[in-house]
Amino acid sequence: MARIVQKFGGTSVGDIARIRNVANRVKAEIDRGNEVAVVVSAMSGVTNQLVAYCNELSADHDQREYDAVVATGEQVTSGLLAIALQGLGIQARSWSGWQIPIISDDAHGKARIVDIKGDEIDKSMKAGHVAVIAGFQGIGPDNRVSTLGRGGSDTTAVAVAAAIKADRCDIYTDVDGVYTTDPRIVKSARKVDKISYEEMLEMASLGAKVLQTRSVEMAMKHRVRVQVLSSFSDAPGTLVCDEDEIVEKELVTGIAYSRDEAKVTLIGVSDQPGIAAGVFGPLSAANINVDMIVQNTSQDGTTDITFTTTRTDLDRALKVVKESIKVPYKSIGSDKSVVKVSVIGVGMRSHAGVAQTMFKALADKGINIQVISTSEIKVSVLIAEEYTELALRALHTAYGLDAA
Ligand code: ASP
Ligand code: MG
Repeated sequence: MARIVQKFGGTSVGDIARIRNVANRVKAEIDRGNEVAVVVSAMSGVTNQLVAYCNELSADHDQREYDAVVATGEQVTSGLLAIALQGLGIQARSWSGWQIPIISDDAHGKARIVDIKGDEIDKSMKAGHVAVIAGFQGIGPDNRVSTLGRGGSDTTAVAVAAAIKADRCDIYTDVDGVYTTDPRIVKSARKVDKISYEEMLEMASLGAKVLQTRSVEMAMKHRVRVQVLSSFSDAPGTLVCDEDEIVEKELVTGIAYSRDEAKVTLIGVSDQPGIAAGVFGPLSAANINVDMIVQNTSQDGTTDITFTTTRTDLDRALKVVKESIKVPYKSIGSDKSVVKVSVIGVGMRSHAGVAQTMFKALADKGINIQVISTSEIKVSVLIAEEYTELALRALHTAYGLDAA
C-alpha cells in the first residue's frame, strides 16, 4: 500500500461534472489499495473573480480581508468533492487550512508555510477517511486566514505530502506533464519523462507555469517525489525527482520564457565606488525584485547600468531609481517589450559550448541579445518580445529537442 497525495487544479474541478470525474480518479487510486489525501484548487475562474471583487471595492484593500475572501474558493471545492466521494460510497471529509492546521507566516496574500501538523490528517486517514484539503490557504500567527500566493495549491499539496510522509504527490492539471518548451508555441515540443528538482525549479522560476515555484522548492527540500499529469487522460505524466533517479541526462532539458520582464537602462552615470549599492539598495528596500544586471566598463569616467525587473514593478522601480540616485547621470530609459528566454539542463555542468549553441542559433535568426545571465544549469538571454516564438523554435531545434 502506498500513500498518495492527489492535487487537482482549477480546470480539473471546473464544474460539477468534472468534480465527479475527479471523485472517480480518487476512487481508482483507493481501489488500487492506496491511501489517499486530496488537495483541491478553487473551480477555474473563481479566484480571479474573488480577486476582482476586492480590487473593485478598493485598489488598496486590507490584505487580511483579501485572504478571507479569496480562500473561500478552495473551501467550496473541498466540500463539493467530499460530497461527490461520499456519493461513491467513500468515507471522506473536507479540511480547511486552519483545521489541520497549516501554519503560515503573516505575509497575507503571499504567505509562506512555516509548519504543518500532520497528526490529525494522519489519524483520519488511518481510520479510513479520505482527507479533502482546501489548497492555497493557511492560518497566520495573527490567528487569521492566510493565502499562499497565486498557484499556491501546488505548495499545499507538496507540504501535505511531506507532512504525512506520502510516497508521491500527484499534481493533476490540464496538461499531461512538463514539456521541453511551451507546446502552444513549439509544435514539436515533447513531454519530459523525468526532470530533476533543480531543473524544475529553474523552469518554474524562469517562466514555465506548470508548477508554483515554491512548491518545487518545498519538494526539493523534503525530497517529495512529484508527478505532473492530466486529469483528462490516462497518459503517464512527468516525474520531478532526484537527479540520481535520471539515467539519461540531456544537455538541455527544457527551454522556458517569461514575458513578465522589463528593462531599465541608466546611461552615463559617473563611475565611482558605491553607485551599484546606491541604486540597488533602495530597490531592495522597496521590495522590488531585480533580476539580470549588467554594467559596462567606463570610457570617460561614466558608465551604463542595465537591469531587469517585472513589468508590474517597472513604474515603481523607475521612481525609486530617480529618487535615490545621488550622482550625475545622462538619462534613464525603460523597455517593456522584452522577454527572457532560458535554456536549462543539469548536463551543462559538465559540458562546454552550451551557451555558444544558444548565441549562434539566435544570431542565425538575426535576433539581438540584449542581456545575458548564466548559472550552473541555465543560460538566460533578454531579447525583443516580437522574437519570442522564433527564438523558442530555433533553440528547440538547435538543442535537438524536436520530437522525432
Ligand atoms: N486558486 C488559487 C489560484 O487560482 C490557487 C491555486 O489554484 O493553486 O491562484
Ligand atoms: Mg496551478
